[in-house]
Amino acid sequence: MTGFRERLEGDVVLGAEGYLFELERRGYLKSGPYVPEAVLDFPDAVRELHRELLRAGAEVMVAFTYYGHREKLRMIGREQDLEPLNRQALRLAKEVAVEGNALVAGNICNTWVYDPEAPDRSGEIVREMYREQVGWAVEEGADFIISETNDYVGEALIGLDVIQEFGLPSLVTFASSNDRTIDDYEFAEACKRLEDRGADAVGLNCSRGPQTMLPIIDRIRAAVDCAVAAQPVPYRTTPSQPTFQSLRDANGARVFPLALDPFLCTRFEMADFASSARDVGVNYIGVCCGGAPHHVRSMAESLGRTAPASRYSPDLSLHPILGDNVQKKERKFQNWKD
Ligand SMILES: [Zn+2]
Repeated sequence: MTGFRERLEGDVVLGAEGYLFELERRGYLKSGPYVPEAVLDFPDAVRELHRELLRAGAEVMVAFTYYGHREKLRMIGREQDLEPLNRQALRLAKEVAVEGNALVAGNICNTWVYDPEAPDRSGEIVREMYREQVGWAVEEGADFIISETNDYVGEALIGLDVIQEFGLPSLVTFASSNDRTIDDYEFAEACKRLEDRGADAVGLNCSRGPQTMLPIIDRIRAAVDCAVAAQPVPYRTTPSQPTFQSLRDANGARVFPLALDPFLCTRFEMADFASSARDVGVNYIGVCCGGAPHHVRSMAESLGRTAPASRYSPDLSLHPILGDNVQKKERKFQNWKD
C-alpha cells in the first residue's frame, strides 16, 4: 500500500469530511458544541458514514476527532472520555479504510485556546493538546495527520511542529472565514510559511463554498511548490457573502449553521468543483461541513474514477417519465400536469 506522499505524487487524492454536520443531521450529535461524541455513543453511525464515503470514492478515512480535543470535551463535561474517544475514532476509521485501500488520517484542529497576544503561554497549552491527540493517532496507526480549520498561522505552525515530532506526513489547512488569518497573513503567505517549515500539503478547508474558495486556492497554488489541498463547504457562497457563516436568507437572517439547506450545492456543482480544482493543480480535493456521499461520488466520477457506489449512479434513461419509453412518458406527463 502506498503512503500519503506517494499518492500525492501520483494523482489527485480525493478526501471527504463533513462528519460533524452529517451526523448532526442524522441525530447523533448536538449542534452548538459540535463535539464528536457519536464516536463513543454511536460507533455504528460513525462507521456507516465512513463506509458511505469510502464507497463514494473517498481515498482517505479521516478519524472523527474534529473538536475531540481536551478543551471541547471539558466544556461538555466529558474530559475523562478524551483518550477513549480519540483512540476509538482512529480504530473506526481504520476498520473501514482497510475495506477499500484507503489511508487513515488523524485529525487536529483549531483549539480556541491559542491567543496571539500571548503566543508562547497559550501555544504551550495548544502544543500539549496536539501532542496527546497526535500521539494516540500514531499509536493507533494513522498514515498522516490533517491539521485543519486553522485560524492562526501561529497555531497551525504548532500543529505542524507536533506532527513532525511524531514523524508523520502532514496536511495543514486554514479556514478562510475572513480575508486574512486572524493573525493577519494573506492565505498564500500563510501557506508559504507552512511549506517553508516542511508541510507536505497546504491549503484551505471549510468556510467557503467552491465559487469563493477557488480564487484564493489559485493564489496559494502560485505561491507554493508543495501539494495544495482544497476542501470547501458545499454551499453557494458569493462574492458578497463569501463564507457560509455570512450567507443570509431573503429576510436578511443568518442561515448558519442550521438553515443552510436552500444554499446546498448540487452533486453537479461539486463535480464541477472537483474538475476545476484538478485543472488549477490542486492535489488533495475534498469537501467539508455539509458534504454528503452523493457529492463525493460525483466528484470521484468527474475525476474519471469509478467508485463502488458508481454501480448505483443515475440512469435516467430508465426513469418511467424522464426516460426513453415515449408512450408511457406522454401518459405520465399528463398526470404530472394535473
Ligand atoms: Zn467544515
